[in-house]
Amino acid sequence: MNSVFVYCEIEDGHVAEVSQELLTKGRSLADELNCKLEAIAIGHQLDEIGKQIIPYGVDTLYIADDKRLSPYQTLPHTSIVVNLFKEEQPQIALMGASSVGRDLGPRVSSALHSGLTADCTSLVIGDHFDKKQDKNYENLLYQIRPAFGGNIIATIINPDCRPQMATVREGVMKKEIRDPKYKGKEVKLDVAKYVSDTDFVVEIIERHVEKSKLNIKGAPIVVAGGYGMGSKENFNLLYELADVLGGEVGASRAAVDAGYTAHERQIGQTGVTVRPKLYIACGISGQIQHRAGMEESAQIIAINTDPEAPINAIADYVINGDVAEVIPKMIKYYKKN
Ligand code: FAD
Repeated sequence: MNSVFVYCEIEDGHVAEVSQELLTKGRSLADELNCKLEAIAIGHQLDEIGKQIIPYGVDTLYIADDKRLSPYQTLPHTSIVVNLFKEEQPQIALMGASSVGRDLGPRVSSALHSGLTADCTSLVIGDHFDKKQDKNYENLLYQIRPAFGGNIIATIINPDCRPQMATVREGVMKKEIRDPKYKGKEVKLDVAKYVSDTDFVVEIIERHVEKSKLNIKGAPIVVAGGYGMGSKENFNLLYELADVLGGEVGASRAAVDAGYTAHERQIGQTGVTVRPKLYIACGISGQIQHRAGMEESAQIIAINTDPEAPINAIADYVINGDVAEVIPKMIKYYKKN
């Protein structure tokens, strides 16, 4: 039991963003635990995939390459991961909280009786003293996530079962290549040893992938509106401001619920996570569920009539004013400059 393991999602021959972020986090956890970072890529035509994955500091990359393994299918992918984990016995296993990770993670943890913490917002190594057993556990994975409707931040530990499994949403962790020439080894798996023919019960006849043109996650500037925008018409001012600044428009859940904009723009615990260079929060109170999706932004400007709004506590600049007055002035100013 001596590794941190990352399941790498493959999309059209590329490693998914969330997997790259988890490889970065996995590397830093492995450094702290003084152990190996291992990863697995499952799919087809993966000859070059090592070049994308190993530079994150991966010591061993397992590759399961078979025509029938792409696109993702629940049963064969589960069998491969479960059987490999039985052999390799990782102490920590990380997956994206994507549709694939949300399907795969619980099945793997259930097969291994290991437990799983979904949608973690932070992963830290720490110790735990169990008073009942008078026993000290060292180097556990603290799996941190909002709980009870976001009213508390829970730290979940799994002292006795392995692997300690967690899923993390895209955008929560930073991605960073360790070394483009990192010396990791690739191990090609004999797929027939890990999957049985009965795992391939699903035949994919046609596949439609809807790709949103919206790129909130990658936008350098996010202009986000909340319930305080007051109406859909006022909310439309934000598109103009975002356009002038070269950014994208985001929203709080209350703004989405009020019908000011579409759900795909929602930022927060149940929306997307962003970390732009500049986040302008317009008429947003800054509840914990919203902050979970934006507090890593490099600079935050809050525009709010309430000087006590919680968003102000994490803002670099606060404009105490009415959005209906402030935003048109900003549009005018930035159009000129
Ligand atoms: P409000 O809290 O109503 O705040 C409006 C703000 O606008 C106030 O601060 C007010 O002072 C200000 N204001 C009013 N008028 C003006 C004006 N004219 N000019 C300037 N300021 C003005 N929320 C999210 O955002 N994202 C999530 O992903 C999310 N997930 C959730 C998950 C769960 C399980 C739960 C329970 C809740 C979740 N929420 C989420 C909801 C969250 O708790 C808040 O209700 C929501 O973020 C509030 O949105 P808001 O700040 O726009 O609205």
